[in-house]
Amino acid sequence: MAKTFDVGIESLRGNGVALPVAHQAAGRQAGAGGLLPLPLRGGRGSEVAVAPTATAGKSFFLETFGCQMNDHDSEKVAGVLQGRGYHAVESPALADLVLYNTCSIREKAAQKVFARLGDWKTLADGKIIGVLGCLAQQEGEEIFERAPWVSLVCGSASYRKLPELIAQLESGGRRVTGLDLDTDETFETEITRRDNLLRAYITIIEGCDYACSYCVVPHTRGPERSRASEAVLAEARRLAGAGYTEIQLLGQTVNSYRDPSPRGWKFVDLLRAVAAVPGIRRVRFTTSHPNDFHREIVEAIDEVSELCDHVHLPVQSGSTRVLREMLRTYTREEYLQKIEWIRAARRPISITSDIIVGFPGETEADFAETLSLLDTAKYDAIFSFKYSPRPNTSAMHLPDAIPEEEKSRRLAVLNERQRAIQIAANEKLVGQSYEVLVDGCHPARTQWGGRTSCNRLINFTSPHVNLLGEYVQVKVTRAGPNSFAGEHVT
Ligand code: SF4
Repeated sequence: MAKTFDVGIESLRGNGVALPVAHQAAGRQAGAGGLLPLPLRGGRGSEVAVAPTATAGKSFFLETFGCQMNDHDSEKVAGVLQGRGYHAVESPALADLVLYNTCSIREKAAQKVFARLGDWKTLADGKIIGVLGCLAQQEGEEIFERAPWVSLVCGSASYRKLPELIAQLESGGRRVTGLDLDTDETFETEITRRDNLLRAYITIIEGCDYACSYCVVPHTRGPERSRASEAVLAEARRLAGAGYTEIQLLGQTVNSYRDPSPRGWKFVDLLRAVAAVPGIRRVRFTTSHPNDFHREIVEAIDEVSELCDHVHLPVQSGSTRVLREMLRTYTREEYLQKIEWIRAARRPISITSDIIVGFPGETEADFAETLSLLDTAKYDAIFSFKYSPRPNTSAMHLPDAIPEEEKSRRLAVLNERQRAIQIAANEKLVGQSYEVLVDGCHPARTQWGGRTSCNRLINFTSPHVNLLGEYVQVKVTRAGPNSFAGEHVT
């Protein structure tokens, strides 16, 4: 059996955690920005930027676009490369191997990657340029047509083949591809390079068996594959042993998890077991599908203090008619029932969501239903998007496209309504104290930032030094729509 390592971990325990540069905010779930320019690696489109671990030998540069799944895939890809003797460099100009781990969920993300590839048109000589992830799966060998200087195209469902593909390139192969979708395996690596020194990701399920009409993921990531519960627990124990206290379980539909081992655990069983790993103080999970969100998950959050009091539950639209067109498999009423369970919990649980405006055929009345759903659900934050048609999706062929300016108008109205909800809700939290895991500081070191269990971002002042990686009590003194200011309660 392969031995597994996690690299990039300093000891986080004891005083004075010296974090170098490569820890990051909570990415997709992060809500909106903070009051402080925290020295954290950015979320979307950020580069994997660790200090080089060696100065000789083959080097790589890896830039990641998209969601936390992609961030974590990049950690594993970096581990595969480091296991083959590569070292990371901070600039693509210095690298022998330049990789882009891509996202194709929206057109803009895809355009950005092609712009990056275009930069190499006259400069690629002597370098290996590779495209990984969703855009690789979606565009396939077309990428070689559009950018003939690219040598590697590999979709995320084929990452287990990466070592083999890289070996082919190293032995002189000119073009290699990994584009199979018919795998029933998950991407396990011998080495995972951890770029976030406070929070560790564990992928528990890959791919997706839903077929939402606007979404490329089933095409780019393949069918759903869950990892055996023992492999997940072993990884959690290793991370705890290395000093991690916060774990985030990942999956496109994380709560559809079904243990393939004889234990046959459901998601909630795994959730409770990970939370019980000694040393783990916080467990998050994302993203949940409303269809698989059962009351027992709320009960577990209520009972197990290590489970963070935050649920990200994408609704996408407040109109049952539009949800049907989106093939989301639930109605507005069924979704709101789940929100009621969460709101009825003994612990206050924050709820965030994803919403798409301007889906083909969305009427004013449908949009008004989405606005009224905001008023009912009272989300703590939303991630809002204008619909953009994507290749290989069934919605691509739906009639009644909404004009771009109308989509923009609806997005602005939606965001304004949500902003008012957040301002009113956040004001009520002034004066309350929260436990915060400190994950950033102002360069002047007089101010700090961190997240509560409910994933609220608080920037605060403290007379103390060396708080990075510590759990501290912070009293909220001021609330903005997206973040809070506070002071360390000593
Ligand atoms: S549940 Fe729907 S939106 Fe989510 S990954 Fe699967 S197909 Fe895409």
